[in-house]
Amino acid sequence: MDNCLFCKLAAKELPAGVVYETEAVLAFLDIRPVHPGHVLVIPKQHSNDLSEAGKDELAPLIEACHSIGNALLKLGAEGYNVITNVKPAAGQIVFHTHFHVIPRYKGDGLAHWPQAPYSEGEDKLWQNKIRRVLQ
Ligand SMILES: [Zn+2]
Repeated sequence: MDNCLFCKLAAKELPAGVVYETEAVLAFLDIRPVHPGHVLVIPKQHSNDLSEAGKDELAPLIEACHSIGNALLKLGAEGYNVITNVKPAAGQIVFHTHFHVIPRYKGDGLAHWPQAPYSEGEDKLWQNKIRRVLQ
């Protein structure tokens, strides 16, 4: 895509702190990291977000996340998050599929999203709704 920042990075038209690259995947440092070592993993092929990415692109992406996350553990991270935001409602800002691999540390002050239990029967309702759509 002509005006896509991440396509320009994948095409090497703009500089990036590349840490990993295969034929299908590029991974580079986020320029505004949650913690140092925060990496973005992208398919070189453009798709707007994970919901539109080709299924054949998914395995190389998650393999890259696995390798990079495990490298972060070897460098002293105590854990890592792998996150992708799909659509603006989920916080997506750059509209080219990407995963964040974020190193984490005990007591680093980042909290999980607030959670609450299902109301009576609501869990079964959601279980059935999702299963029906996946059939
Ligand atoms: Zn793109």
